[in-house]
Amino acid sequence: SEERSLNFLEEIIEKDLAEGTHDGRVLTRFPPEPNGYLHIGHAKSICLNFGLANKYNGKTNLRFDDTNPVTEDTEYVESIKEDVKWLGFNWSEELYTSDYFDKLYEFAVALIKKGLAYVDDSTSEEIAAQKGNPTEPGTPSPYRSRSVEENLQLFEDMRAGKFKDGEKVLRAKIDLTSPNMHMRDPIIYRIKHAHHHRTGDKWCIYPMYDFAHGQSDSIEEITHSICTLEFIPHRPLYDWCIEKLGIFPSKQYEFARLNMNYTVMSKRKLLQLVNENYVEGWDDPRMPTISGLRRRGFTPASIREFCERIGIQKRENVIDVSLLEFCIREDLNKTSWRRMAVLDPIKMVITNYPEGEVEMLEGENNPEVEGGDGSRMLPFSKELWIEREDFMENPPKKFFRLGPGLSTRLKHAYIVTCTDFVKDAEGNVTEIHCTYAPDSKSGNDTSGIAVKGTIHWVSVTHAKTAEVRLYERLFKVVNPASEEGDFKEYINPDSLQIIKKAYIEPALAEDFNPEHRFQFIRKGYFVMDKDSSPEHLVFNRTVTLKDSWAK
Ligand code: ATP
Ligand code: MG
Ligand code: MG
Repeated sequence: SEERSLNFLEEIIEKDLAEGTHDGRVLTRFPPEPNGYLHIGHAKSICLNFGLANKYNGKTNLRFDDTNPVTEDTEYVESIKEDVKWLGFNWSEELYTSDYFDKLYEFAVALIKKGLAYVDDSTSEEIAAQKGNPTEPGTPSPYRSRSVEENLQLFEDMRAGKFKDGEKVLRAKIDLTSPNMHMRDPIIYRIKHAHHHRTGDKWCIYPMYDFAHGQSDSIEEITHSICTLEFIPHRPLYDWCIEKLGIFPSKQYEFARLNMNYTVMSKRKLLQLVNENYVEGWDDPRMPTISGLRRRGFTPASIREFCERIGIQKRENVIDVSLLEFCIREDLNKTSWRRMAVLDPIKMVITNYPEGEVEMLEGENNPEVEGGDGSRMLPFSKELWIEREDFMENPPKKFFRLGPGLSTRLKHAYIVTCTDFVKDAEGNVTEIHCTYAPDSKSGNDTSGIAVKGTIHWVSVTHAKTAEVRLYERLFKVVNPASEEGDFKEYINPDSLQIIKKAYIEPALAEDFNPEHRFQFIRKGYFVMDKDSSPEHLVFNRTVTLKDSWAK
């Protein structure tokens, strides 16, 4: 995209490079916790971390931040790797915080030896009470003055499994008067008798985020550790640990997370939607997950473009989901082949077209591409399916489609004029009769008839069928997480409409290729769903052609 000014992280890196900090090396990391699938917010972080490394000739590590055995799983590890690759990024090393458990344990022992950490028998409630509130100093735990020897022994006993969950913790000994609550003797290790997806039952004590993250950065010699704004108050602790341990000085920087309207983006909430069957799974096309967006038909380029457009800020903001939709429309407009599909069919009979005759008409694949990007052949015959909404019995002025006496063009074919229609006993229109002008063929029109509308169609005898899934936003309110009560009460009941039998042009069925993306002329952009088989095609609507949500 076009030139833009540097964001604040680029400015920091350029300054570091100019000053020769870290010998001109740039190493970032993307550190997901494998407790869920990645979402569009993670994409922002991925594009940022990998993007900075790409721009400054650096590298990015993929580090699984797997310090909480209870919520983590290898299924998530695999999906995260797939999603990062799909977005178009290659990591330098695949690493796991759990691989550093021995090292982190040594770091904790080192702090104890320096008199900077102690084993505390207080309960979590007692610890919270000791910490107090920011306006007055906290009170020391009765265990704060334990000797180094006693602490070393107790910490070893914690590791050896001699205590139950919650019976003891290891706390850093920092400053109970600090206005920053994170510095008031934070817990750095806890007991958790739980099976870990990688280390199995080797450990029953696990480091807390604040003790694991910075040290992992340091072990890897990360130069720029980028996280979201909530971690600003954690930074003094990040720096304190690195300083006291005398290890590689990684630095933490913070940017505003992506918030987007009409969705939720916390993994905990997304997990609820999956577990409670509000959606089909993590990759349901209505989910804001990368896998959901992929299945919905988004391209990696459109997501990267979205992340580029939203930019990097230091203040919280909310991005309108229509920007994401705009990015995929822009991309697919340039790249996707046009095809005809009739979603709500009604039969049209061309009364003056010879019975049994079939003409093969040519239609370019994509008018946005020089030369049309090739073409496909469209069988045309006496009976066609057209869209029910393209006919009106009593059309208003400026209705340029079909109604008694009205003419319109059939895409890539002829101009037709409606002469008659048929109704059933209930008064529903069941068939439309037209005549066509034989000298009005597209590309060779000598009829002199001027029409303003063009409609799509599919030949009845040649049509193939498909299931079509129309998706709308999953939530009917701007910010479901901030509404009163449970966010799931705000799910849009019409977020999925399934059309069991749409008629599609034969070319759509000929080249069977899940994840193939198309524009269904006048209907939007669609992608073949993974549920498809050559016998049963399924298409998902990625997005409508225009922003139809706007009131
Ligand atoms: P969640 O709240 O969804 O559980 P998380 O921050 O706990 O998110 P992680 O797996 O720890 O999830 O996130 C990995 C990285 O992605 C972190 O560096 C985090 O800052 C970043 N990240 C997560 N959510 C967003 C977001 N909405 N916008 C930008 N970056 C994000
Ligand atoms: Mg996290
Ligand atoms: Mg989380």
